[in-house]
Amino acid sequence: MSNPVLIIGAGVAGLTAAVELADSGVPTIVVERLPTIGGNALDLYKAFPTDDCFYCFEGNRWRPGIRKCFYRSALTDQPNIDLKINSYVENIAGEAGKFDVTIHIEPEYVEAKKCIMCGLCMEHSDAFSLVSPQCQPQAVTYDASKANEGDKKAAEECPTKAINLDAEARDETVKVSDIVIATGYHEMKPVNIDEYAYGKYPNVVTQLELAQILDPNGATGGKLLRPSDGKPTTRVMMVQCVGSRDENYYPFCSKICCVFALKHANIIAEERDASNISVVYMDIRTYDSHERYYREARQNGVEFVRGRVARIEPRDDDTLDIIVYDSLLDKYLKFPVDLFVLSSALEPPEGGEKIIESLGLKVASGFIAPADLVSENEVVAGNHVYACGAALGPAEVPESVTQARAVVSKILQGRK
Ligand SMILES: Cc1cc2nc3c(=O)[nH]c(=O)nc-3n(C[C@H](O)[C@H](O)[C@H](O)COP(=O)(O)OP(=O)(O)OC[C@H]3O[C@@H](n4cnc5c(N)ncnc54)[C@H](O)[C@@H]3O)c2cc1C
Ligand code: SF4
Ligand code: SF4
Repeated sequence: MSNPVLIIGAGVAGLTAAVELADSGVPTIVVERLPTIGGNALDLYKAFPTDDCFYCFEGNRWRPGIRKCFYRSALTDQPNIDLKINSYVENIAGEAGKFDVTIHIEPEYVEAKKCIMCGLCMEHSDAFSLVSPQCQPQAVTYDASKANEGDKKAAEECPTKAINLDAEARDETVKVSDIVIATGYHEMKPVNIDEYAYGKYPNVVTQLELAQILDPNGATGGKLLRPSDGKPTTRVMMVQCVGSRDENYYPFCSKICCVFALKHANIIAEERDASNISVVYMDIRTYDSHERYYREARQNGVEFVRGRVARIEPRDDDTLDIIVYDSLLDKYLKFPVDLFVLSSALEPPEGGEKIIESLGLKVASGFIAPADLVSENEVVAGNHVYACGAALGPAEVPESVTQARAVVSKILQGRK
């Protein structure tokens, strides 16, 4: 049998590649550094362009009309996928087409297959937690840095004996024919940009954090409440291009933040009680058919202010006064708000340097760059090395899925 394909990253892109290869009879090994698959698309509530719930969006491999959790399907329906969570690539040696890859696997303190999510362990120790109600595998995780005296009791009382506090990390070396990099993006936490006061005032959040507030599975049950005191939020301001298109941080446009900001503005206007929503922007970039989110936002009464945020003044009641320079009116305006939302840059994830270096890959602004710039080869990063999804730069889900399928098609052609 031919060697398996290694996929690094279990977000939408990596899982699509894994599922499609597995469907074609190709064994795959998926390495995911977190305890759950799904990547950044987990817990985002509704997804453009279809406005489906993120868990239920129609996967390419299911018949129209059949809704099934994409992530669970990838795990349960595919014997050809060997998923390694809490893992990362330690070393890559060998030659193109016959790589020897050493994978580091963190201790399996909770055996995911045995955990029935009864929650008993979480009652005894806060070292046990649930990453997300939609996590896959459906199991609690254990954080050894929070180890405490309740752990032993949790292990003793676990009804399925899923907990092993003595579990150890291990390395495993595998031979693989191809490597697919699907390591996605990280949403920049703009702690160093003073004018936005992120990390200083609790009611300043990023769009990813807002998505988790709006998610019915989130901590507030989807209610739009102020992080500072849990009071309802009625006045929301968003600001675009935070850290993007800025020579001090990232010179590139993060491409999708205008669309998801408008998606959020519409959800707030249509489904929550916010009475006042404004967006401060330099340009609104709604490519392809996403212009409809802009039109809907205007119909929903969202106010657009072209200009820059000059400063933030906190008030005693936890509201914030946002002072904005309006470049169309040539005036400074003051907006009192409950929640200030930053459309922060999408940056390369940490920890990819070793992979990039050992495979001698090209990079562009920190993301993986195609080996050559011919458009039909945009997913080819090297000899038997591919990249898809946001690993190539900010991308939406449909684009990530399309690229993953392109990778699959190239790998299948190579194995004929
Ligand atoms: C606020 C917000 C809202 C959005 N809304 C939408 C929307 O409505 N519609 C839409 O189409 N898109 C939306 N997106 C974009 C969407 O999140 C991405 O298109 C999608 O997540 C890309 O999938 P991916 O698999 O390429 O990357 P990711 O989702 O980033 O997944 C990458 C995976 O790789 C893992 N990983 C990273 N490095 C390593 C490593 N070294 N070793 C092992 N594993 C690693 C990560 O842990 C992660 O699980 C939104 C994004 C944001 C920020
Ligand atoms: S007690 Fe055991 S089965 Fe129950 S949630 Fe914890 S690990 Fe899972
Ligand atoms: S997509 Fe919009 S918010 Fe994001 S960087 Fe580009 S212009 Fe700015």
